[in-house]
Amino acid sequence: MIDSTKHQGLRRQLVAQLKEKAITDSAVLQAIGDTPRQWFMDPGLAAYAYEDKAYPIAADQTISQPYTVAFQSQLLALAAGAKVLEIGTGSGYQTAILLALGYQVYTIERQGELFKKTERLFRKLGLRPKRQIFGDGYKGWPEAAPFDGIIVTAGAPEVPNALLAQLKIGGKLIIPVGTEDQIMTRLIRKSEKEFDRTTYGSFRFVPLLENKN
Ligand code: SAH
Repeated sequence: MIDSTKHQGLRRQLVAQLKEKAITDSAVLQAIGDTPRQWFMDPGLAAYAYEDKAYPIAADQTISQPYTVAFQSQLLALAAGAKVLEIGTGSGYQTAILLALGYQVYTIERQGELFKKTERLFRKLGLRPKRQIFGDGYKGWPEAAPFDGIIVTAGAPEVPNALLAQLKIGGKLIIPVGTEDQIMTRLIRKSEKEFDRTTYGSFRFVPLLENKN
């Protein structure tokens, strides 16, 4: 797969733009700087890989905007080796960023076409999530719970209880909540029953769909 000097130059510019947009976490900036986004995009759209925009992928879904990927990764802010569950594998780009951050990644996708495509792509790129799951991420992945972090990359009408239940004490859930627009939300588990909730800006994601496999 190609990563030309032109791509590398554009990627450095993207990293500089993200810094201007208040992405300050150096590990996140490095992960974005090290990960060729064109590999996760439709070949016909590769020329736009370093535009800070979302683009269509298969199955009517989208690859998230780099700023959004960086913002969610920065909110997660876990140590290397942390166990992280991603809901919505999609293009696999956010998965690749989580792997570049040194996390043990579990990732779930409900669209068969995307699941198969990313399975092939990860193999080709030598990317190794702990587990790639075809299924409904609304339910989380109890088999590997509890997690240090859970990141939801689709717009959730509400916070699924199953995901809260699968966080370690001290663990973080990063989830965009809302139907048309979403408010980026971080929940930190303080105890068995208590969660600290902080909200950030408004974002726009494709919907998190429940029970539709
Ligand atoms: N992280 C992805 C974002 C893809 S868009 C990327 O960087 O490209 C969100 C993805 O969430 C879509 O692929 C969609 O199919 C998936 N999704 C929606 N509801 C889901 C559910 N209940 N379980 C698993 N995946 C889901």
